[in-house]
Amino acid sequence: MTELQETISARLAKLSNDYLAGLPLEINELSVLAQALVDQVDARPLLVDIHRRLHKLAGSGGTFGLHDLSRAAAALEASTQIWLAADFSTSDAVQRCRFADAIAALGVTIGLREPIRSTLHADNAPTDVDARTQVWLVEDDVLLGETLTRLLSQFGYDVRHFARIDSAEAAARTERPDMLIMDVMFSDEGINATEELLERPAFLAMGCPLLFISAHGDFQSRVRAARLGAKGFMMKPVDVPRLVDRLEHILETRFATPYRVLIVDDDIALSQHFHLVLSAADMEVAVLNQPQDIIETVSAFHPELVLMDIHMPGYSGLDLATVIRHYDEWIGLPIVYLSTETDRDVQLQAMGRGADDFLTKPITDAHLVAAVRVRAARSRQLSDLMSKDSLTGLLKHARIKETIALELVRSQRSGKPLSVAMLDVDHFKSVNDNYGHAVGDRVLKSLAHLMKQRLRKADGIGRYGGEEFVAILPECAQDVARQVLDDIRLRFAALRFQHDGREFSVTLSAGIACTAESPQASGDDLLIAADTALYAAKHGGRNQVRLAGAVVENVSEFGIRLPT
Ligand code: GH3
Ligand code: MG
Ligand code: MG
Repeated sequence: MTELQETISARLAKLSNDYLAGLPLEINELSVLAQALVDQVDARPLLVDIHRRLHKLAGSGGTFGLHDLSRAAAALEASTQIWLAADFSTSDAVQRCRFADAIAALGVTIGLREPIRSTLHADNAPTDVDARTQVWLVEDDVLLGETLTRLLSQFGYDVRHFARIDSAEAAARTERPDMLIMDVMFSDEGINATEELLERPAFLAMGCPLLFISAHGDFQSRVRAARLGAKGFMMKPVDVPRLVDRLEHILETRFATPYRVLIVDDDIALSQHFHLVLSAADMEVAVLNQPQDIIETVSAFHPELVLMDIHMPGYSGLDLATVIRHYDEWIGLPIVYLSTETDRDVQLQAMGRGADDFLTKPITDAHLVAAVRVRAARSRQLSDLMSKDSLTGLLKHARIKETIALELVRSQRSGKPLSVAMLDVDHFKSVNDNYGHAVGDRVLKSLAHLMKQRLRKADGIGRYGGEEFVAILPECAQDVARQVLDDIRLRFAALRFQHDGREFSVTLSAGIACTAESPQASGDDLLIAADTALYAAKHGGRNQVRLAGAVVENVSEFGIRLPT
């Protein structure tokens, strides 16, 4: 076996173990949902969730060899499908109880007796600072090391400074940072780090991105850095905003959400094999064996790439590709045929019908992974270009509104508060006037980086317009949101920008609205309320965070609440 094959089979085994370990919990959660269904009036959202889970279980159960489970889940999935298509409210209580019992019985197919505590309603962790990116900086110039540590910390990174390679190496035996920044020349130790690291297995085993900073940047060192797989080589004096830009870029690709790939193939065994191989390569995979469900599947799963078989009973991949292309929203979705067809003419003709590329079976696992990854990355790049702001990489105006609408629905369902904050840079016009537009852009980018670092992964961050930003904070009460925004405000004010030897700093104002305070508010209402609070912050002297008041109707002309 080659090394890659060994890694893949090890990961497949781990995947299978993880799946089996998580299964009892998943079945128990399904059972809790089905119980809730029994006396629920508006049961549709629950039923949609149950349907999705059953569908997954039917597919994955088969993949991992649990055929009884898979069959039972598929039968239940079919019933939910029928219920969803008909008017579910007409189904009677007895029917619902039977359904709940049948779902509970899924556990029996995997030999389960004891119910397992559900995590469905476990509280999510509140906004935390501990999720900050860990950066190790190895720099023998102590003063520079300390300065960089301070500046990077202002951006929200958790930075640890080592003055010697040896001490970093010792720490690397027990800990892992998310990112390693390395000086090149260590005069005390008489070391060129680009030479030395090759000899030190502890560093090579760290598996985190590496970036060099150097005063010389001679070609030999650069080549050695490239051989070490370094993600960057920056010259001193270090331009911190540019360094942060680089870090963010590297980390974004590293922690990106998995690519979503849909496999359409009537060959169940083969598609399950592809499923495993792509899952092991950290992709999120859905398999469709019944071509007639293509539209439902694409709209539910939102794939970033479709791998399509050509010859399927009753349908051809060409027809399916064309059907997908009839929908405006999927015109840009890459479709790659994966077929045994080797006739070049047939391939070309097939590509004329809505697909973007052709891969021929049999295909090695490594080839499949590489081919899918490259195309999915391209697909994501294009959709990011459409939905993300090019300067800051944050959500654009329209996507902000969509995200708020989505989170509002979730918050209504979960009963947990949603906070929306609007931020605006103070006197930004004078930054542009004094230092130029390019420096102004750098200030905006820095604020964007700071927000990405400080906020949680689940939070939405957008650029609403010129120098206005929006933070969407699910499961976050207003006072917590205020602490977080105040922290961002302080960190932003502490940033020191430089231009032409002059140093300056900038402040921001923010307003926050929360569903807990205005339960009836629409997404637009929340934005308007946050904007009004922002306006109050500006008038209150800027460099501050204000909360939107509750919507109070009964207020006297002196602003005093009257008894109702
Ligand atoms: P206030 O404290 O009241 O918010 O004052 P301000 O100067 O920040 O507000 P104003 O709205 O008067 O000015 C915002 C400026 O932001 C005007 C515009 O030229 C600038 N701006 C908008 N978009 C960009 C951008 O992408 N880059 C740069 N450099 N400047 C921008
Ligand atoms: Mg402003
Ligand atoms: Mg403005």
